[in-house]
Amino acid sequence: MGFLKQLDVENFKSWRGKQLLGPFLRFNCIIGTNGSGKSNVMDALSFAMGERAASLRVKHLRDLIHGAHIGQPVSDTARVSMSYCDDEEQETVFCRSVAGEFNMQSKNPYLLHNTAVVPELEKIGIVTKARNCLVFQGAVESIALKDPKERTKMFEFISQSKEYAAEYDKKKEAMLKA
Ligand code: ATP
Ligand code: MG
Repeated sequence: MGFLKQLDVENFKSWRGKQLLGPFLRFNCIIGTNGSGKSNVMDALSFAMGERAASLRVKHLRDLIHGAHIGQPVSDTARVSMSYCDDEEQETVFCRSVAGEFNMQSKNPYLLHNTAVVPELEKIGIVTKARNCLVFQGAVESIALKDPKERTKMFEFISQSKEYAAEYDKKKEAMLKA
């Protein structure tokens, strides 16, 4: 399974100008004092994966521009580039700006319009219409309160483990018989 390598943010939320977040490992922990921007990291990632304004804690996407929350945007665009590394260490960069433009750059850079890039994201298991398993602050409780079967279904869908369920059951049965 691939992983997020780094996020390049530009005038996005609390980051002024260009800043690099990462490099990330397969497992990461973000720590910091209240208001230091931990959730903004998740917002940047969610934004690159196609989340809508409401999930990013803003009314309009343009409010994501640095300074816009106090009515003083420093730029007319904010951008997030998400570098994704697949199992073969091949890197793909998905880039989204507040203008709603959704581009994709790969080894041979090219640009795709919003809708066209969605299948590219889906190839790596990111369904832009789904929540992509980012548990936003405050959402932990709603997931914890889900019916266990519903919760299992959700994780099976996200991890794609359903595909292996039949094989798993077969092997388990064989092991129990042995
Ligand atoms: P907590 O521990 O309370 O959850 P946090 O580390 O998750 O805090 P965030 O919510 O990520 O903090 O960041 C909040 C900070 O982001 C605030 O200081 C806020 O002013 C800043 N911020 C949010 N939007 C913008 C923006 N458009 N421009 C500049 N700063 C912004
Ligand atoms: Mg937070």
